[in-house]
Amino acid sequence: MSLTPLEEALSALLPRVKPLPTERVFIKDALGRFLAEDIAADTDKPLFDNSAMDGFAVREEDIKDAEEDKPVSLRITGESSAGGEKPPGLEPGTAVKIFTGAPIPQGADTVVPVEYTQTKDGTVLIKRAFKKGANIRRKGEDLKKGEIVLKKGHHVRGYEVGMLAFLNRSTVLVHRKPKVAILSTGDELLEVGEPQTRDSQIRSSNHHMLYALVESAGGEAHQLGIAPDDPKELLHVLKSCRDYDIFVTTGGVSMGEKDYIQYLVKEVGVDVLFHRLRIKPAKPVLFGTYGENKLFFGLPGNPVSCAVAFDLFLYPAIRTMLGAKDIFRTKVRARLVKAFKRRDAYRREFARARVWFEKGEFLCEPHQKQQSHMLTSVVEANAYMIVMEDVKEIPEGEEVEVILIGDSL
Ligand code: AMP
Ligand code: MG
Repeated sequence: MSLTPLEEALSALLPRVKPLPTERVFIKDALGRFLAEDIAADTDKPLFDNSAMDGFAVREEDIKDAEEDKPVSLRITGESSAGGEKPPGLEPGTAVKIFTGAPIPQGADTVVPVEYTQTKDGTVLIKRAFKKGANIRRKGEDLKKGEIVLKKGHHVRGYEVGMLAFLNRSTVLVHRKPKVAILSTGDELLEVGEPQTRDSQIRSSNHHMLYALVESAGGEAHQLGIAPDDPKELLHVLKSCRDYDIFVTTGGVSMGEKDYIQYLVKEVGVDVLFHRLRIKPAKPVLFGTYGENKLFFGLPGNPVSCAVAFDLFLYPAIRTMLGAKDIFRTKVRARLVKAFKRRDAYRREFARARVWFEKGEFLCEPHQKQQSHMLTSVVEANAYMIVMEDVKEIPEGEEVEVILIGDSL
C-alpha cells in the first residue's frame, strides 16, 4: 500500500472539521477558548477624566512660570480620591490634592505629580511647569461605548478574562470544547503504579500524555485507560465512540497480527480516509469519520509517534472545533547549527530539536536520539525540525523550518 503525503492527509481531515456549537460560560471558564461573539465596550473607558498620577490638580495657566527656585504657591482647597465623592471645583490660584484614578475637578486642566511639589501650611509649592492636559487620562481615550473590543474568534487568554471583567461581563459565548476520548491498547501495557509481573510489560505513557496534550490544546479529555489486544474487549470500548467528538486510540494500528484497530473501526461505523502516511515518525496513523462530523484517530503505539501525530493532526482538529482561526502550531525559520543526515529520505521527517534565539535569529539543533520509542527526545525538545521528502542531508548553517511544540492554553 502506498503512503499518503501529509498535505493529502490534511486535505482529507480539515474540510471535515467544523467549529462546535456555542455555549455561554463564566469568564474564568473561557480561558483557552475562542469567542463566538463580538464583545463591545459597555461604557466609555475611561468613563471620566481622571489623574494618571498622585499629585495636584491645577490650572496650567497658574503654573506656567513655575521653576525649581521660583516655585508657584497655590492654596489647597480639597482632595479628589479614587472612588471618592465628587471633588470640589477648582478656582484660579488654587490646587486640589489628587490620587491616581481620581476624577479631575471641574476647572482643572493639568496634574502636577507629587515629586514636583512641596506642601506647607495648606499650600503647595509647584516647582515645574507642565503642558496643559499633562497627566490626565481622558474620558473615552481607550474605548468609546459600543466599540468592538474583542472580535469573534479571538483567543481568550488571561488578559482577555481581565478585559471581559473590565467590560462588566460575567459570562461570554464561546464554542463548546470537543470531548476527546483516549484509549491506549496493548497486552504489554501497565498503568502507573500497577505491579510489573513480567519483564515484557511496559508502562503506558500514551494515554496520560494525550490526556494532558488534549487539555492543554483546549479540549475536554476523557480518559478510557488501557485495553488489551483483544477484539471483543476493544470492540466493546470502541462502541462508546458516539459519546465523543473525537475518539483516539494508541497502538494496534500497524501491520502486526494483533493490530486489530483498523478492522474493528469499520464495525463501529468509521469511514477510514487515510491510514499509512509518508511521514516519520507516525507512519501508521489511521483517520476516519463517524456519526455527524466525528473524528476517529488510530495513533501508533510508539510514544514519539503519538506526540508527533497529536501535533500534526489532533491539535489543528481541536483548535478548529474550538473556533480558532489559526489552527496550526507556530512555525518559524531557524539556522541549523549542526549538519543533519539520514539514510532513508523517502518520508517527511519531524526531527525533535531544540530551538533558541541568539544574536537576532533562531538557531536549531536536532536531538541526538531520533528513534520513535524514545520519549526523551521529545521532553528535551521544544520543536520539530521539518526535513522534506527526498532530502538526505541538510548542511550546517542552512535555514530550516521548525514547528514549535508545547502548551498552548
Ligand atoms: P504498536 O503500535 O501497538 O505496534 O506499538 C508500538 C510500540 O509502542 C511497542 O513497542 C509498544 O510496546 C509501544 N507502546 C504501545 N502502546 C504504548 C503506550 N500506551 N505507552 C507507551 N508505549 C506504548
Ligand atoms: Mg501493540
